[in-house]
Amino acid sequence: MAENLTTSSPPTADVANLNWCFDSSATHHMTANATSLPNAHPYTAPHIACQIACYGKRTTQDVWHAQLGHASHSVFTTLLNKYHLPLDGTIVSNKNCHVCPLGKSCRLPFEYRQSHAQFPLALLHLDLWGPAPISSNFGYRYYLSIVDDNTRFTWLYPLAKKSKVLATFIHFKKMVENRFSSRIKQLQIDGGGEFTSKLFLTFLSDHGISHQISCPYTPQQNGVVERKHRHIVATGLCLLAQSCLPHSFWVEAFSTAVFLINRLPTPQLDHMSPYEKLLQRTPDYTFLKSFGCACFPHMVPYNMHKLSFKYVPCVFIGYDDHYKGYRCLDPISGRIYISRNVIFDETSFPYQQPQITPTAQSTPASQFDIGPSLDSSQINISTSPAQPAPIVLDSSSVNPFASPPPSDPT
Ligand SMILES: [Zn+2]
Repeated sequence: MAENLTTSSPPTADVANLNWCFDSSATHHMTANATSLPNAHPYTAPHIACQIACYGKRTTQDVWHAQLGHASHSVFTTLLNKYHLPLDGTIVSNKNCHVCPLGKSCRLPFEYRQSHAQFPLALLHLDLWGPAPISSNFGYRYYLSIVDDNTRFTWLYPLAKKSKVLATFIHFKKMVENRFSSRIKQLQIDGGGEFTSKLFLTFLSDHGISHQISCPYTPQQNGVVERKHRHIVATGLCLLAQSCLPHSFWVEAFSTAVFLINRLPTPQLDHMSPYEKLLQRTPDYTFLKSFGCACFPHMVPYNMHKLSFKYVPCVFIGYDDHYKGYRCLDPISGRIYISRNVIFDETSFPYQQPQITPTAQSTPASQFDIGPSLDSSQINISTSPAQPAPIVLDSSSVNPFASPPPSDPT
């Protein structure tokens, strides 16, 4: 490894006594002098005893704030101190953000219930939200949220109909039980007909899953999932406000919100993130990007025409569950590309520019009530056509913790 030393300075002490710093963006680069690495900063991982340096692009506090879904200042400082996020400049405690008030109109409710299940999947909280005041681009009007009591990890499934709840739960059960080699033991549900139907309860009984049904008008019995639901909606509204995307993109915004919330430290887990609690590893924050910003996926693997442009201007609409890649919307064609090879411009948000004509009618944020389900008379179904299926340009392995593929809305 000696021939690959990147430092130009001669060793000044016995090499065994040096704190060696590795350049994490390349292989075989190491130095005893951190100042010889551009943008080097301390890095501490739970299972790495030595002190290393991490090369990463430094990002301003404002960009981090946008990438993290407008997380609170306390969450950001926790991340900064715990994971040493590469910050460009110094942190400002009272920074004003014009987006946060649009999504976070109220404080999150207090979580009454403090005790946690002992193991993942021992107790799950289920809740169905909807109907949404505006249909999503794929025709979804509901979402099923499933929160693991032990880790607070959340899965979100957009649904076209309430009747999809059982089939979605069956898929979810297979996925998590296979992944974690454990069985779902108990559910906390409310008295909604989708959970108390004979079919649903029979399925639980047949698989030895016990359930508790919360009493009407006793929100403390649903504190875990209620708080999570409000957090999802508040964060999703911030992402929509930041991007100026039409509200028919609420599924993309809410899915991204869950992706981020799973990676944010929470006091309920002693400032650990649900991701880390469940998977026993630190989330990677360096690949996060600002929802709704301009992006340019590399088109060569898909576009075979020799005179075609290699990059197409798109809008970043979240992280793909099934392929480890970024979801990029071509606003002209309406196509969604999934790729890891993407160039981002986080200073530009194309839907903030008047020349982009949204394909669906925007809805005021106030229509996304974060309280109980909305009255059906408030539903304003968009007539925008469903988008074509995403095109996978390049990606790595399938994410085993993903939601199922979007079901046919019809
Ligand atoms: Zn903000």
